[in-house]
Amino acid sequence: MERQFTREIESLKLGDGETFHGEGILAVTKALLQSGVSYVGGYQGAPVSHLLDVMVQAKDYLDELGVHVEACTSEASAAAMLGASINYPARGAVTWKSIVGTNVAADALSYLASAGVMGGTLIVLGEDYGEGGVVAQERSHAFALKSLMWLLDPRPELGRIAELVERGFELSEASNTPVMMELRIRACHVRGSFSSKNNVPPVISTRHKLDGPPKDFIYDRLAHPPATFRQEKLKSEVRLPAARRYIAEHRLNEVFPGSERELGIVVQGGLYNGLVAALRTLGLADAFGASRIPILVLNVVYPLVPEEIVEFSQSKNALLVLEEGQPEFIEQEIATVLRRADVPAKLHGKDVMHMAGEYSAEAMVRGLAKFLGEHAPHLDATKGATWLSEVRSTREKAGQLLGPLPARPPQFCIGCPERPVFSAMKLVAKEIGRPHVSMDVGCHAFASFEPFSQGNTLLGYGMSLAAAAGVNPMSQKRAVAVMGDGGFWHNGLLSGVASSLLNRGDGVLVVMKNGYASATGTQELLSSPPEEAREAAIGASAAHADRTMESTLRGLGVKWLRTVDNYRVGSVAKAYKEAMTTAEKGLKVIVAEGECQLERQRRVRPLVAEKLKKGGRHVRVKYGVDEDTCTGDHSCIRLSGCPTLTVKDNPDPLRTDPVATVIDGCVGCGLCGENAHAAVLCPSFYRAEVVQNPTLWDRIFARVA
Ligand code: SF4
Ligand code: SF4
Repeated sequence: MERQFTREIESLKLGDGETFHGEGILAVTKALLQSGVSYVGGYQGAPVSHLLDVMVQAKDYLDELGVHVEACTSEASAAAMLGASINYPARGAVTWKSIVGTNVAADALSYLASAGVMGGTLIVLGEDYGEGGVVAQERSHAFALKSLMWLLDPRPELGRIAELVERGFELSEASNTPVMMELRIRACHVRGSFSSKNNVPPVISTRHKLDGPPKDFIYDRLAHPPATFRQEKLKSEVRLPAARRYIAEHRLNEVFPGSERELGIVVQGGLYNGLVAALRTLGLADAFGASRIPILVLNVVYPLVPEEIVEFSQSKNALLVLEEGQPEFIEQEIATVLRRADVPAKLHGKDVMHMAGEYSAEAMVRGLAKFLGEHAPHLDATKGATWLSEVRSTREKAGQLLGPLPARPPQFCIGCPERPVFSAMKLVAKEIGRPHVSMDVGCHAFASFEPFSQGNTLLGYGMSLAAAAGVNPMSQKRAVAVMGDGGFWHNGLLSGVASSLLNRGDGVLVVMKNGYASATGTQELLSSPPEEAREAAIGASAAHADRTMESTLRGLGVKWLRTVDNYRVGSVAKAYKEAMTTAEKGLKVIVAEGECQLERQRRVRPLVAEKLKKGGRHVRVKYGVDEDTCTGDHSCIRLSGCPTLTVKDNPDPLRTDPVATVIDGCVGCGLCGENAHAAVLCPSFYRAEVVQNPTLWDRIFARVA
C-alpha cells in the first residue's frame, strides 16, 4: 500500500478561479494539466518525486483528460520519451532529480536538443544542491549551456511557478528547444496558493490519437549527420534569438524597483526569497519584500537577454550578482554583456560571496554587507552586523552548553530488512577479513555509517558492480558490490551484471530485494510483489512473491545464484561466505530478500487495525533484554545498529556498565535474536508475544504459564 494522494488528486481537478493551496511541486503538477500536456514521464527522486507519484495515482482522472503517464525505469527512458514532441505538436513533461538524473539522461537530451522540438517540452528538475542535498554537488546549468537548452529558475511563489510552467511550454515551442525548470528543495516544498484555471485536454492524446507518422518525411528532424551540422547552427542562429525574443516580450524575468537607483542586484529566481530575508535583516526591505535596492530576478537563467541586463545596469554604479554554486556561469556572461555594451557599473559576485555551496540567508547578509560597505556607506548596515554577531554568539553559546555533539548519521528504519545482511557481512568479515565493498545509491548506503562502516566507493545509481570491476582483478579477496532492486533495474543489470558476464568477472553481488524503490518513497519496480500477494500477507513479507529478478539473472547467464531470507542472519552469512570463498569462477549473486519495513508497516497497519476493530486476535512480537544476564559489552549493538536497541543505566548497583535494552518501537523483526544466535552472544535476549484481543484459551494459558 503506497502513500495515498487523494487530497492532492482532488486539487488537480480545480477549475477557473478556484484557489489552489499546496506545495510548489504540486503547483507544477497542476500547471502541467492547465497547459494541455499530452504525456508525462519521469524517474522518482527528491524533491520532485511527488509530481510523478501524484500523477501515477491520478491515472483515472488523467485517462479522462487523455494524458498518458509513464513511470519510467530511468531518467534516460524519460528523456527519450520527449522524442514524441520532435515530430508532433504534442506537449510533454518529464521529471527527475538533478544532477544525477540529468547525467543519466544526458545522451537522449543531447539528441533531443539537437533535433529540436515542435511540441513544447518541459523537464522539471529537482535541483538537489546545497543543504539537504544527497547527491554529488553540481549544477544543472552546465547541461543547459552545453546543449543550448533553456533553463528556468522560478521565483518560489506558487502563482509565478505555475505561470512559468505554461510559459515554459510556449517558450519551448517559440524556439523549438527543450526547456528545463530547476526547482530547489525549498521551491518544491514552499507552500502557497494561486488562482487555478481549467485543465486543458491535450490536442493529441490517448483520446485523440495520431492517424499516422508525419505526412512529410523530414530527414532534418533526425539528430543524425548531416542534419546535426545544420541543427548545431540553428541553435545559435535561429533558436537562441527566438528564445530571447519570447523571454523579453513576455517579461519572464522581473524587475523590482528600489530607491537606491545607483545599485542593483541580479539574482537567480530560486534564491529570491532568501535574498528578501537577507535584505529585511539588513533593514533594507519590508515585510512584503519591497526592497530599497532594485532587483532583477532571473526566472530564466539561460539564456540571458543582453538588452535586459544592459537596461537594468546602465544607470548603476555597482551590480551584485547572486548565483549559487560554481563556476559562476551567469556572472561571467553578465560581465561579457556589460563590457560589450560599455556599461561602467562595477560588477560583484563571487568576490563577496563564497564560490561553492548553498547561499543561505546568513551568507547573503554577509555578502550584501560587504557590497554595501563598498558602494553605499550611507546605508546603515548595523542591523545586519548585529544580527550576524547574535547568530555567532548563539552558536558559540550552544556549543559551550552542549559540548561536542555526537554525530547523528541517517540510518536504516527500525526493522529494515537490509540491516541483517550487513550484520552477516560483518560477521563473515571477522572470519575471512574485510573485502572491498562497492556501495550503491539507496537505503543500503546507510551501512557506510557505523556500526557497519562498509562501502569504499559510491559511483552512482546501479553502478556498484561496474565500480568494482577494476578493483576485483587486483584484489586477493573478491570485491563485493551491494545494490538495491531499484538500482538493479535502473542501471545495474546492464552496466554491472551484463558487463561482468561479458568479461567473465569473478566478483560478488548482493542485491537487496526489498520490493520497491524504497529510498525515493517506495515506488513500484518490475519485481514488486503483485497486489494480491501484498493484500494476503499480513504476517509475512510480500517481497518473496516475485521471482522476476532471479529468472532475469539466470536468463542472462548467472550460474551461481542464491536467494536468502535477510532476517536469517546465519543463512545469509553462510551464503555470503560461500560466495566469497568458493572455487567456482564467475559472478556470484546473492538475492537478499525481505520486504521494505516502511512499506510493510504502511501495508500491514491498516489491515491489523481492521482486524482488531472486528475483535480479531492479533499477535505482535517484541524483543527484550534480560538486564540480569546482559554482560554490558554491547556486541549486540555493534552488530545491529537498530535505534530501538540501546543502553540504559545498570539496575545492579554493583555494576557500572550500562546494560542493553530494547525500547518501545521495536517491530519484532527478529534480528536481535538472530544476531545473538549467529554471533554466539550472551543469552540475554528474549522474544515476547503481545496478544491483542486474546481468546479465552490465551487468558487461561497466560494464567498458568
Ligand atoms: S525505507 Fe525500507 S529499505 Fe529503506 S531503510 Fe527503511 S525499511 Fe529499509
Ligand atoms: S528485534 Fe531487535 S533489531 Fe529488530 S526491531 Fe526489535 S530491537 Fe530492532
